Amino acid sequence: MLSKDELAARLSEVRASLAGRAELVAVSKFHPADYVRLSYELGQRLFGESRVQELVAKHEALAADCPDIVWHFIGPLQTNKVKYLAPFIHMIESVTSERLLEEINRQGQRVGRRIPILLEVYVAEEETKSGFSPEKLLQLVERIHHEPEHYRGIELRGLMAMASNTEDSAQVRGEFARVAELHAQLLRSGWVDSERFTIRSMGMSGDYPLALEEGATHVRIGSALFGERH
Ligand SMILES: *Cc1c(COP(=O)(O)O)cnc(C)c1O
Repeated sequence: MLSKDELAARLSEVRASLAGRAELVAVSKFHPADYVRLSYELGQRLFGESRVQELVAKHEALAADCPDIVWHFIGPLQTNKVKYLAPFIHMIESVTSERLLEEINRQGQRVGRRIPILLEVYVAEEETKSGFSPEKLLQLVERIHHEPEHYRGIELRGLMAMASNTEDSAQVRGEFARVAELHAQLLRSGWVDSERFTIRSMGMSGDYPLALEEGATHVRIGSALFGERH
């Protein structure tokens, strides 16, 4: 178990390295709700989780004590589980397919909200990563733009990506740069609301300094804060 002092030290170290350039999504998946509570007491508000059941349990456990906590869902999401997130989730970052997008849109309308989402774009050279190809992404955003009446259950806030898991920092940097370039291209297209489509969520414990240099607005950091996951 991390002590509050250890956690405070890690949080301030990570925050110092961000130097206000990006928002910190503290990735608390697989770690106890108490770590979230401690971080909250230390001023952290934004947390990322990647499993629906775990997130719902933490949300319920912490709702009373942490009233302005902000939850981002960042993991693989099955369509049949969107309904559990729809009432409270602040953002779904990992929208990887049209089928999932449609279900989030449907559930958003069911609960009477526009669920903020990021579209996950596939820029890595790895089979294991998921998301829309750059071509699919552009087509999809154009279509959403032309069907505003249909998409009343979602709000497009930006892009999310994971870089290849490699020591080759030039490659990782290139992948992050590609995300920033796609984001800029979408802003120029006029298909997105430039006041709302502002997020580039990229970078994790191992590669966030590069993501920052390439224009990340949000970094998702787990192990550097909370230690190894078991
Ligand atoms: C787990 C996870 C992270 C955090 O990874 P760390 O290497 O522990 O910082 C970031 N993004 C996504 C999508 C994740 O699933």
